[in-house]
Amino acid sequence: MASLGDRAAAKMFAISLVWMLGATMAQSIQLPCPHCNTEASGFVLIHWYRHPTIGNVRVVLECNVCHEPIIAAYPGGGVEEWTNGVRKVFPSEVRQLWVAPIPKIAVAPNGVPDNIASLYAQAMSSFQRQHYDAAGPLFRRIMETSIKKLHPAGKGSLYERIENLPDGIGVTQTMKKWAHRVRIIGRDAAHDEDPMTPDEVKDMQRFVEIFLVYAFEMPARLPTEITKADPPDGH
Ligand SMILES: [Zn+2]
Repeated sequence: MASLGDRAAAKMFAISLVWMLGATMAQSIQLPCPHCNTEASGFVLIHWYRHPTIGNVRVVLECNVCHEPIIAAYPGGGVEEWTNGVRKVFPSEVRQLWVAPIPKIAVAPNGVPDNIASLYAQAMSSFQRQHYDAAGPLFRRIMETSIKKLHPAGKGSLYERIENLPDGIGVTQTMKKWAHRVRIIGRDAAHDEDPMTPDEVKDMQRFVEIFLVYAFEMPARLPTEITKADPPDGH
């Protein structure tokens, strides 16, 4: 049986081991970065404390990609085993209460179908990180998918599909011009060996966004807006 001294020594050894592991393997968590727009950057725990009156835990974290900090709040209790190094993996059940700065997550205009919204989020993520050669083809694909959604019976090339959008589905001549602009920039880029320029992709982003607003967001809003504006019966 180990003596009291042996046990104390073993405990000291265990504590120092945990401390050494803690020093070499910093606590980290994957979060979107508001500074460099990396979607899931490893953030390293720099400092934490328990708020003396509220009891929630505040953490200061450093982005592994750009080394800028964020501050986040988590409920007391759940997160402290992680902040003090006992638990290596961040407890997934713990919900973040707030974070500053707030990451810029690009959201597609309202009313946009889910598959197009998902493409839009991917395109904007590449766009914000200045990965223009990744963003450009995605913006073109969003336009193509939107045209197909608006007129599934359309056939032929993207040019023909845009031109043959029927009257009565709410697509104006101006919207067709925006669609063609995106098509042409995307087509030229596909035939060009040079990388896409920021201006080309910014144009695509602007035309895609306004097209989505006119094609999906405004029609989705109209019925409720009109209902609200309806005069009461009999007037
Ligand atoms: Zn960052």
